[in-house]
Amino acid sequence: MAELEVRVVSARREGLLIELGRVINEYGHVLVRQRLVPDVQGACLTLVLRGPDERQLALEAALGSHPRVISFECMRTPGGAMPSSTAAPVAELAPLIQPELSLAVGADAARVERMLPNLAKDYPRIFPWLINLEYAVAAEARDASLHLAGRRTGAWVYKRDFAFGARLALNDAIKRIALPALRVLVSVEQHGDQLHVRGCPLCQPGSLSGGRFFCGFIEGVLAESVDAVTLSVRESSCHSQGAPTCVFDITH
Ligand SMILES: [Zn+2]
Repeated sequence: MAELEVRVVSARREGLLIELGRVINEYGHVLVRQRLVPDVQGACLTLVLRGPDERQLALEAALGSHPRVISFECMRTPGGAMPSSTAAPVAELAPLIQPELSLAVGADAARVERMLPNLAKDYPRIFPWLINLEYAVAAEARDASLHLAGRRTGAWVYKRDFAFGARLALNDAIKRIALPALRVLVSVEQHGDQLHVRGCPLCQPGSLSGGRFFCGFIEGVLAESVDAVTLSVRESSCHSQGAPTCVFDITH
């Protein structure tokens, strides 16, 4: 199973990852990493993919002819294969996906549940699974699915590592449970009832925020120690929108 590096240029970055992510998923591939940067023609997206060799050519053809793609290049790693390059016709752009729609619909619970054994097996190297989940579910179910995956993962981590059985004040619960649990995944600091995450792999500049996973994770990991009914976590600033850190406000 070789890795495939793909670079596409598109006129607009909005919704690009989601739309191409669906194609990637359709051809049995998993997204390993991605990078989205501005380009003179709009946006340049680099993707590193992994999947069955026999479907690679079909995937390349599907990505190269996608209506959002102005130009397309791909390279197999390792092996130093020659990059192939095809210019797709500049077709009409697909309609943008409105991010606010994604809040209204429920999670793809079946898909999240199917993924959980993989998260547990690979923990803490879970980000490729989560990025793949973002693409695998319908755009409207993305945020709720990330949130559910976070809740379930947080609850699992609590049971595995932190089941003290004692009730704690919120600030203590953050310090003794949420902070060390998150530290295994990301670079994080506590500021009062906030957690600041630096360089979140789910919130890359120019892409949609994946902060809903961490909201769910913090809720899941704290639910047994503080009153879960009144516990709520929201992301008040996000690296994906240019903030230096993703900030999670925890209220109780
Ligand atoms: Zn974020």
